[in-house]
Amino acid sequence: MIIEAEGWPGHRPGQHLDVRLTADDGYQAERSYSIASPPGEPLEITVERLEDGEVSPYLVEVAREGDGFEVRGPIGGYFVWVDDGRPVFLVGGGSGVVPLMAMIRSTSGLTPMRLLYSSRTFEDIIYRQELEDRSGDRIEVFHTLTRGHPPGWTGYTRRIDNEMLKEVAWPAAEQPHVFICGSTRFVDAAADGLVALGYAPLSIKTERFGATGG
Ligand SMILES: Cc1cc2nc3c(=O)[nH]c(=O)nc-3n(C[C@H](O)[C@H](O)[C@H](O)COP(=O)(O)OP(=O)(O)OC[C@H]3O[C@@H](n4cnc5c(N)ncnc54)[C@H](O)[C@@H]3O)c2cc1C
Repeated sequence: MIIEAEGWPGHRPGQHLDVRLTADDGYQAERSYSIASPPGEPLEITVERLEDGEVSPYLVEVAREGDGFEVRGPIGGYFVWVDDGRPVFLVGGGSGVVPLMAMIRSTSGLTPMRLLYSSRTFEDIIYRQELEDRSGDRIEVFHTLTRGHPPGWTGYTRRIDNEMLKEVAWPAAEQPHVFICGSTRFVDAAADGLVALGYAPLSIKTERFGATGG
């Protein structure tokens, strides 16, 4: 979903914004959404529809082009990637891939990046085609599917574990930047796994979306 925000000051890859909806009776609901677009391009968010959610079904199904709502941002100064040439290891679960996509879309193409991306099923993979198109020497994408996989699938087929992280992540000695985003449980498991591999806890930046995610 593209948002036209008048007076938007610009953002950095990894930041998010808050959307506030106001009903006719004055009832308000506010939720955070990561910015998927790279700096300088039209503001884009990607909303995963939660069956029994309050805001996400509205944004995915009801909102129409031209609708107006309040947006606050950009927010976040910690989960932000600044390219200094060091390799970047991205770990995303479900819609947790969204801020990581802003980083992938921002790269000059010189900095090595790896994305380990966990989705429930093949159909749930967000940005599947774009990730495939962007894959190459400098951007490597590793998928894992946790709830079934199509015939011929060559990616991983389980939840992210230490063995998988060991296979995909750069050695800690190369001091990559690490960004992990997804549900609380997902983020904790991935961060603990990297610490077990020798990554310094402070080198790992995390963003938790709440209880849901791949
Ligand atoms: C920094 C940040 C960035 C985010 N970026 C994204 C993004 O890019 N894309 C994205 O899709 N989401 C993102 N999220 C998550 C997003 O903010 C919302 O949480 C999500 O869209 C769900 O909102 P909702 O109103 O649809 O669901 P809610 O109504 O908030 O419900 C969420 C879940 O909680 C359950 N629940 C609600 N109330 C209760 C209750 N009383 N008891 C038990 N369970 C309950 C619901 O069943 C549902 O499964 C981000 C969150 C954060 C913090």
